[in-house]
Amino acid sequence: KAKGDGRNTYRFFDDAMDVEAVEHQFIRNGLRRALERNEFVLHYQPQIDLASGAITGVEALIRWNHPELGMVPPARFIPVAEESGLIVPIGDWVLHEACRQAVAWQNAGLPELCMAVNLSAVQFKRGSVEQSVIHALQETRLTPALLELELTESILIQNVEGVLDSVKRLKLLGVKLSIDDFGTGYSSLSYLKRFDIDKLKIDQSFVRDLGSDPDDAAIVRAIIQLARSLNLRTIAEGVETADMLRQLGAFGCDEAQGYYFARPMSADAVASYIRQA
Ligand code: C2E
Ligand code: MG
Ligand code: MG
Ligand code: MG
Repeated sequence: KAKGDGRNTYRFFDDAMDVEAVEHQFIRNGLRRALERNEFVLHYQPQIDLASGAITGVEALIRWNHPELGMVPPARFIPVAEESGLIVPIGDWVLHEACRQAVAWQNAGLPELCMAVNLSAVQFKRGSVEQSVIHALQETRLTPALLELELTESILIQNVEGVLDSVKRLKLLGVKLSIDDFGTGYSSLSYLKRFDIDKLKIDQSFVRDLGSDPDDAAIVRAIIQLARSLNLRTIAEGVETADMLRQLGAFGCDEAQGYYFARPMSADAVASYIRQA
């Protein structure tokens, strides 16, 4: 907030920094009330098994249905939520809502789907992820094996004893663990040995230019080979074209997720999508 022209005024829109700071504060203030006002919504994006063509799961992706701004994408508020610690109660809401929806689909007669939920490093540092997951599973009665927690490499390379322990204990609950945006984080692969990971999610930045950039193709192929020799499944993110899909299939990728199949959509839209698939 830059001081004004000497009088009792503030010039908020002096430069880009100020605009950003104002939006930041606007978002932060709104976030505090968003949970009580029930303004968050989860959309779900199907994940397709390439061998069978079946939809095996969905990834839950949060949106904020803001009264003035409309649908706000996570990139605009998750970083603010992380900075303020609000990601802890928001993350609890996401876990509970995603598990509740998975059970609701089962009760509606849909085939069993795995529900993937994104976790932030801040939830591990400032919250008790293990307790949150236990609560969500108990309250919704979702089968633990149908919940997949998406971790980022930044969570797994933390040298904080508590964080590493809670990742290990999560696995003992019977849930699945995957690594999101794989390949974009850190080159240390030792955490693949230390934790019982189920799946690598190949980041969309490598998938995007798969057809035109030989380096990206080499990286994707190497990730798939690594995963196979470690007995991990692979899923490619950001699959937008039939060409990408063909190449991923040729490399031996197990699953795909992307606009080519479906965009993230409301729970109702997912149910119709699956019924007509
Ligand atoms: P992510 O977990 O890597 O999710 C994949 C993102 O790629 C989603 O963006 C999805 O809409 C987008 N996407 C899917 N298919 C395609 C495609 O074919 N092409 C392109 N260009 N994009 C595609 P979204 O929903 O905006 O989410 C962005 C990020 O926000 C997520 O990245 C995740 O890191 C974070 N996020 C979303 N929901 C949550 C949440 O509940 N908790 C936490 N902590 N983070 C979340
Ligand atoms: Mg994800
Ligand atoms: Mg990702
Ligand atoms: Mg991401």
